[in-house]
Amino acid sequence: MQELDVREHLITQAQPSIALSVRGVTKTFPARPAPVAALRGVDLTVVSGSFTAILGASGCGKTTLLRLIAGFDRPDSGEIRLSDRVLAAPGLHVSPERRNIGIVPQEGALFPHLSVAQNVGFGLGSWQLRSLSRRARRARAERIAELLELVGLPEYGERRPGELSGGQQQRVALARALAPNPRVVLLDEPFSALDAGLRAELREEVRELLQRVGTTAILVTHDQEEALSLADHVAIMRDGLVVQADSPQGIYIAPGDPHIAAFIGEVVLLPGRFVDNPDIPAPCAECALGCVAVRMAGGSGTTSEQCMVLLRPEQLEIADHGAAARVVSTSFFGHDGIVRLRLGEDGSGPPVLVRIQGNRLPSSGDLVAVRIAGNRSAGVAAPAFSVTR
Ligand code: ADP
Ligand code: MG
Repeated sequence: MQELDVREHLITQAQPSIALSVRGVTKTFPARPAPVAALRGVDLTVVSGSFTAILGASGCGKTTLLRLIAGFDRPDSGEIRLSDRVLAAPGLHVSPERRNIGIVPQEGALFPHLSVAQNVGFGLGSWQLRSLSRRARRARAERIAELLELVGLPEYGERRPGELSGGQQQRVALARALAPNPRVVLLDEPFSALDAGLRAELREEVRELLQRVGTTAILVTHDQEEALSLADHVAIMRDGLVVQADSPQGIYIAPGDPHIAAFIGEVVLLPGRFVDNPDIPAPCAECALGCVAVRMAGGSGTTSEQCMVLLRPEQLEIADHGAAARVVSTSFFGHDGIVRLRLGEDGSGPPVLVRIQGNRLPSSGDLVAVRIAGNRSAGVAAPAFSVTR
């Protein structure tokens, strides 16, 4: 019996520890003309020290979920835990200031009438400074200086938020959220108001900073590139539910359904059917671009069953031979380009996208040949979805 206990303990030790878990959380807002079911049973597990992105379209319930985690609102049902501590459950609500969770809200994060240092100090508690001993006051000033140093704004303590750029304001908001050394920090679309260049720069800075501090972070965003490039875990939200959670690579390569696939990148969806092909390890599907090894994401893979084969534009190439296609239009992005095609010599077949390197883009109306790039028999990562007809 005792031996078993030890083994159980070791198994627990080997698993990554869970910083935050959300189970079956629902939230409906009374609204006209009908109540809005903002969360419909959300499950989410956040590993300690991870950077998790919650990715979903506007209105899918991201802010509502963060507000429930922070304690600004109560779930209608379900449970939220920080490690082993229950923060919210039926009949139980831990107030926000007792949760040990920091938040950088979506908008209007800073108090305009307070200096930068006072804003950061607010995160340390809103007690009256006068009632503090000289020593406590010094410790507080040191902590504020340390936080401003951390976010790269050591000289800015006396300024007002209105005298800072958008990116600097977000860094102050982050310093304020990190001030009390929270177990988890929540960031609600922190970069969405910034222009593209600044956004990319600040993203990297924030990631590096959070890594240094070692705080578990949850970032909410509707920007798939941001989620995939920044986070080590991504949870996809849709209509008040987390519909898939995995590593960024896992979600991109093996999306749970065609909607998720299209939400996190460009897709080529071709009707096909499962076939037996001695050259390609099963399962294998036949589509307009030939036979391709597929990863099952729905359906049984039974021979001749219909399916949809999902390919990414970078898995295709324009070549000397392949399926005939007409160029519909092209886009040049500098680092690469996208060619929009329709299969068939007359361009009446299914639409297809090809990502191409360099600046040799064909012209609209050109007749080209398109094929799956690489060694198909080695298994091109093409998820196959069963056809829901
Ligand atoms: P997101 O942050 O993903 O854009 P939200 O969580 O803000 O989405 O909102 C989810 C849904 O809940 C939306 O339909 C929104 O209109 C609704 N909603 C959010 N807060 C309230 C509220 N206080 N009262 C009524 N409806 C709300
Ligand atoms: Mg929101």
